[in-house]
Amino acid sequence: MSARAFHEFPVHHLMEITARPDLVFVEGHGSWLTDHAGKRYLDFVQGWAVNCLGHCPEVVIEALAAQAKQLITPSPAYFNEPSLRLAEMIAAHSAFARVFFCSSGAEANEGAIKLARKWGRKCRNGASEIITFEGGFHGRTIATMSASGKPGWDTMFAPQVPGFPKAILNDLASVERLITDETAAVLLEPIQGEAGVVLADLDFLRALRALTTKHGCLLIVDEVQTGMGRTGTLFAYQHFARDDAEAPDVMTLGKGIGAGVPLAVLCAKEAVSVFDHGEQGGTYNGNPLMTAVGCAVMDALLAPGFLPTVADKGRYLGERLRGLVTELGLAHERGLGLLRALDLGAEIAGDVVGYARERLEECPGWEGAGLLLNAPRPNLLRFMPALNVSHGEIDQMIQGVRLAIRAVGAGARST
Ligand code: PMP
Repeated sequence: MSARAFHEFPVHHLMEITARPDLVFVEGHGSWLTDHAGKRYLDFVQGWAVNCLGHCPEVVIEALAAQAKQLITPSPAYFNEPSLRLAEMIAAHSAFARVFFCSSGAEANEGAIKLARKWGRKCRNGASEIITFEGGFHGRTIATMSASGKPGWDTMFAPQVPGFPKAILNDLASVERLITDETAAVLLEPIQGEAGVVLADLDFLRALRALTTKHGCLLIVDEVQTGMGRTGTLFAYQHFARDDAEAPDVMTLGKGIGAGVPLAVLCAKEAVSVFDHGEQGGTYNGNPLMTAVGCAVMDALLAPGFLPTVADKGRYLGERLRGLVTELGLAHERGLGLLRALDLGAEIAGDVVGYARERLEECPGWEGAGLLLNAPRPNLLRFMPALNVSHGEIDQMIQGVRLAIRAVGAGARST
């Protein structure tokens, strides 16, 4: 394919919803993307933890092609085989007997909010409040923005949807203070991803489970980012729940389950699965094309030995990042599995991301190539590689981050 100049692309017809760099991606394989000019990028963002098997994995291509030839969608008013198979697989490997398929994480969380409100009406005297957390992120619909605790989001599209009092992560007393007869559920991310990989402590999560059980309200985990092997177990709740009773009542999945195609899931225990006919739905829910991909992703993640390799690579990535902390005098690294963050100790993360993408190609070993990183905070880099990233790719990324920090570090502004 002949390379096109960036100015030849009709980019001005897209709504300006974010500042995008002047490049157009045209191809991706594994951990590498290629732009319009033929430049290659080592990708440690992967669509924000979406492409759990890397770009264009063979198993997804095959599942899409085979299913597209057979049946794309009969309507969610009828059963179809891939969605039944995927529901069975999720139920077999989690604490949740019932699932509802949809197309985005926000839609799954909207479903969880509706389910909790319905359950509150039916089983807890009309309770409708859902306690959520400062710093939390649950999506960009009006209700999920209201449930989120992202600074500034409370006024952005005011008025908010009411009924989401905010507690402080890892502060059980802050949750306890908010629990009343009006409380239907507590909703949280086991690791706050968008907030910058902020981990809920295992002790806090266990205590929260006990607290919600004691008060007779639901515990909902948003595993849109942490689910599907990201933290080294199939679901992050499996780090804290010692059995199905201790598991949350509701879980949402997105991102990784579709490996790049729009698929998300609302999962619930049997007793909590209280929707009546007509209360939940959607044109694309459980369509065979997407759920066939979900089955292929589950097969890949559940293949013997796969998840332990994610945990191993997560440990390796953590070690290498801690090596950079020591070597370059940075603040610290944190994370679980292959969801990790590096606190640079100075507000240079945006510059590091820009240098890695644009200027790394001037450095030895990076000729014609760049590195894609994410900076969720001015002082923080977040790493969300494909779960099948290689040790060599981790090494190469570390070398690129080292070069980028050294290059921009001179002008660093201390936090
Ligand atoms: N919940 C969490 C924890 C997320 O990280 C995200 C996306 N960043 C969402 C929900 C929203 O998912 P989507 O963008 O697919 O609507």
